[in-house]
Amino acid sequence: MSESLKEDSRGKRRIFVHDASGIFAGVPLSLPGKHYTTPKIIGEIRDEYSKRILALALVSNKLEVVSPPNKAVEEVAKKAGEIGELNRLSDADISILALAYWFKRKGYEVILVSDDYSVQNTALYLNLVFMAVKTIGIKAMRKYEVYCPNCGWRGITNSTTCPRCGFPLARRIRH
Ligand SMILES: [Zn+2]
Repeated sequence: MSESLKEDSRGKRRIFVHDASGIFAGVPLSLPGKHYTTPKIIGEIRDEYSKRILALALVSNKLEVVSPPNKAVEEVAKKAGEIGELNRLSDADISILALAYWFKRKGYEVILVSDDYSVQNTALYLNLVFMAVKTIGIKAMRKYEVYCPNCGWRGITNSTTCPRCGFPLARRIRH
């Protein structure tokens, strides 16, 4: 764990957890508070322009890269499965949700910055506050049931295809 994280844990402070959209929109990084992302989000960054913005954010101490504990990753994946979002979240998506979830449990005031609807929906289910950058953001949490239109399989999976017949999975709102 980094030194700054230890320092912060003495008092409750506002922190932001960013996915790639949050980092590159720029504005959210200038909001007062500490800013974090995860190695998996960094690993998704490919183009040179984005890499330069990231490098600047890191050298100017605007952004710190932290991995969430495995236990938080497992809990978030389980919760995402409960509302039919697990197979729509990448490992990087789950990593920022888990980092935000973990910080909140430590008593921080956390704002998750993401334009991804599945990340936002899962954030609401986890009682996390999120901020959208380029989109309006979802207003209410929805629970979905994941099912196979071909063979009728229903359940929780991190795959986008049916575990029984291999057909692409669909989902419907669960009331
Ligand atoms: Zn099937």
